[in-house]
Amino acid sequence: MPDTAASDAAARLATIRNSIARAAALAGRPADAVTLIAISKTIPADGIVPLLDAGQRVFGENRVQEAQAKWPDLRARYAGVALHLVGQLQSNKAADAVATFDAIHSVDRPSLVQALGKAIAASDRRPDCFLQVNIGDEPQKGGCAIAELPALLAEARTAGLPVVGLMAVPPSDTEPAPYFALLAKLARDHDLDQLSMGMSGDYETAAMLGATHVRIGTALFGVRPSAA
Ligand SMILES: *Cc1c(COP(=O)(O)O)cnc(C)c1O
Repeated sequence: MPDTAASDAAARLATIRNSIARAAALAGRPADAVTLIAISKTIPADGIVPLLDAGQRVFGENRVQEAQAKWPDLRARYAGVALHLVGQLQSNKAADAVATFDAIHSVDRPSLVQALGKAIAASDRRPDCFLQVNIGDEPQKGGCAIAELPALLAEARTAGLPVVGLMAVPPSDTEPAPYFALLAKLARDHDLDQLSMGMSGDYETAAMLGATHVRIGTALFGVRPSAA
C-alpha cells in the first residue's frame, strides 16, 4: 500500500520546487540560488516526517522551545537537517537559539545583537544571522526601521555576529513586489548577498526579485491549526 502522507508531501514539494525554479529562471537565476525553508511551526513530528522522507532538509520554526522539543529526535533520525529561526526572539533565549538553530532570521534590535554576540562568543556555534527589517513600517511588526539598519548592522558586526543578509515580511493584502525590491536594494547597498523573503502566497515573486531563502509553511503543510 502506498504511503499517501509521504507521497502527498513529495508531490507538494515537487510542485513548489518547480514553481521556484520557473520564477528564478525568469530572472536569469538558477533554481539552486533559492533555498526552500519548510516552516514547520505548530506541525507535530508526525507531520514533518513525510517531508524529511521526501528529501527536504531545511526547516524553520518560530519558537525556541517548540524547536527544542521537536527537533532533537528528528535530527537523530535524519542526517543533514538545517534549522532556521524565523520568529521574534527574546534576548533571554539567545543562548538557546544559538545552540539550536543554524540560522536566525529575526535579529532586529541592539539588545538582541548584544545577547547573541555573547551567546556566540561563549559557544562553538556561529549561526548565520539575518537582520530583520520592518520593510512596510508597520507598528505591530518585528524588524528594525529602515533608517536604523546601518547602525544595527555596524553593531552586529562589531558584536561578532555572522551577518549574511536581510529578512522581511511585507505588509499583507498589498502587492509585495515593491517591498521585495526595496529589501534587495538595501542588501546591495550594504554588501549583503542573502535575502530571506517570500512566503506561501508570494514566494514566486520573491524568487524573481532575488530571494535566496523563501519561507513556506501553509503551501507545504496545509493551514495551521492555530494562528501561529
Ligand atoms: C509562519 C511564517 C512563515 C510561513 O508562512 P506561510 O504563509 O504559512 O507560508 C514565513 N515567515 C515567517 C516569519 C513566519 O512566521
